[in-house]
Amino acid sequence: MSVFSDISSLGVSALDVQSMMREAVRLIREKLQYLWVGLLLKDHKTQTLSVLAQAGLKEERFKGVKFEVGKDTGITGEVALTGKYKCVNDLDEYVGPYVSFIDGAMSELAIPLKKRGRVIGVLDIESDKKNAFTSEDISFLRTLTNQLTDAIERFNLLAKLQDELNIRTALSQVSELISSILDLDRLLRTVLNVLRDYFSYWSVSIFLKTKGGEEIELKAFVGYGEEKRPPEVKLKVGKEGITGIVAATGKPLNIGDVSSFPLYVGNTEYVNSELAIPIKKGKNIMGVLDVQSPELNAFTDEDTKILELFSSQLAIAIDNAKLYERMKNLALTDGLTGLYNYRYLMEMGRREKVRSERYNHKFAVLMIDIDDFKKYNDYWGHPSGDVLLKEFTELLRSTLRKGLDFIARYGGEEFTVILPECDEAYARQIAERIRKKTENLDIEGKEAFPSNKFTISVGISIFGVHGKSFQKLLRLADKALYKAKQTGKNKVVVYGE
Ligand code: GH3
Ligand code: MG
Ligand code: MG
Repeated sequence: MSVFSDISSLGVSALDVQSMMREAVRLIREKLQYLWVGLLLKDHKTQTLSVLAQAGLKEERFKGVKFEVGKDTGITGEVALTGKYKCVNDLDEYVGPYVSFIDGAMSELAIPLKKRGRVIGVLDIESDKKNAFTSEDISFLRTLTNQLTDAIERFNLLAKLQDELNIRTALSQVSELISSILDLDRLLRTVLNVLRDYFSYWSVSIFLKTKGGEEIELKAFVGYGEEKRPPEVKLKVGKEGITGIVAATGKPLNIGDVSSFPLYVGNTEYVNSELAIPIKKGKNIMGVLDVQSPELNAFTDEDTKILELFSSQLAIAIDNAKLYERMKNLALTDGLTGLYNYRYLMEMGRREKVRSERYNHKFAVLMIDIDDFKKYNDYWGHPSGDVLLKEFTELLRSTLRKGLDFIARYGGEEFTVILPECDEAYARQIAERIRKKTENLDIEGKEAFPSNKFTISVGISIFGVHGKSFQKLLRLADKALYKAKQTGKNKVVVYGE
C-alpha cells in the first residue's frame, strides 16, 4: 500500500490506473500464491463485467470478454449484483451457477469494489487448493480491495470529472425534455433511462398520486435486469411503504436497511436499501422518485442531492405533460378567429397567476370590446361582421409579442389579452397602441359605425395591484371596460382610475 500512496503523490495520470492495477493483481497472485487474480470493472449500462487487470492467464484470453452481472451468472456476476463478498471453498461441491475459465480452480473468492455504496467492480481470486481462504485472508483481501478502490478513485480523475459532467449533461437533458416531451409515459421512461444510464442506479421507480390523492401508483420503472418488472403497485399515502410515507411528508427518506422500516412494503428479495425523494411543485406533492439497491446503506447525501435536483425538474415536466394531456381533450381554439377560446384562457390565466406569484411579477389583463358592433352587423350583415372580427384578430396578433402575450376570444366580439411581466404603465401603452391602430384601420363600410370609424374600448386590471385571482382580474377589467363605454367609447381605462 505504501507503493500506491507513493505513486499517488506523484500525480500519475488516470491512464496509468490500469498498469497500476496490473501490478497490484500480479503482486497479490505471486505473494499469496493463487492460481488467478483478476480485477473486473462493472459497466452499469450493459450490466456486464470486463477484466481491467489480471494475472495468471494470457492477456488475449480476456480481450472483449464480458461476464454478465446477475444472480444466475456465476460467482463474480452474483457479487457484482449483491455487493456482498462470496467465498466458495470447494468448487467441485458448489451447486450454484459457476463459470469456469481456468483449469484446476478448486476454490474462489470474489470481493466487490464499492464506490459511494455502489458496486463498481469485483476482485476475483481463484486458487488451486480447496479451502484456500482463511478468515484472516478474507479480511486482509477485503481491506486491500478497499484500498484498490480508493486508488482507482484517487487516480481516476477522468472518472470524477465525468461524474460532474454526467450530472450536468443529465440535468440539461431533463430540462430539454420539459419542453420537448409532452407525452407523460414517454417522459417518465426517458427520465428513468437518463438516471440509470448516467448514475448507475440499480432500480429507479416513479410513483404518482392517483386522482383522489389517497394513493400513489407505480407509473414507470427500470431495473432488476428489466424482465422482473413488478406488477401493478399501489400504496396508501402516509400508511404504506417508504414511498407512501414520503408522498405524505414531502421529505426525502434514506433507509439504509429496509428490514428496519416497519411500514416497508417489499417487492423483491434483493432490496436492502432504498432512497425516496418527493416529486413536488411548491407544496403540492405529485409523487415520489425512488431508487433501490441490493446493498445495505447504498445511498449517500450526494444521491439525495442529485435526485432532488432531478425531481424538481421532473415535477415541472410532469405538470406540463399533464396540462397538455388535459388540453388535448379540449378544443383549444376558436373556429372563426383561430384565437384561444374561453376555456384555455382560464387555464392560462391560472398558470400565469401561479408563475407571477412565484417570481413576484405583475401581469396585465386587457378586456377589449368592439364599439357599436351591433350596428355594423345590422347594416352589413353577420358575415361582414365576421370578416371584421378576423381583421381585428390580425391586428392584435401583429401588435402583441408572439409566444409571450396571450390572446383569447372571450366570446362574441370581446377579446382578452394577458400581458405577462407587465405593469400598469406598460399595459396602458400597449392598449393605447392597439386602440390607435384600430381607429386608423381603413376598413370597408365603416360608415355603418356612428363615429364613422372602427373603434374599440379597453379595460385593464393588473395582477398584484388590483387582485390576486384571475377570475377577479377578469371581473375588474370588465368593470373598467364598462366605464370606458360609459364615458364615450374608443378609450382605454385602467381599473380604479
Ligand atoms: P358597445 O359599444 O356597447 O359594445 O355596443 P355593441 O353593439 O358592440 O354591443 P355589444 O358589445 O353588446 O354587442 C355585441 C354584438 O356583437 C352583438 C352581435 O351582433 C355581435 N356579435 C357577437 N358575436 C359575433 C360574431 O361571432 N359574429 C358577428 N358578425 N357578430 C357578432
Ligand atoms: Mg360585447
Ligand atoms: Mg361591443
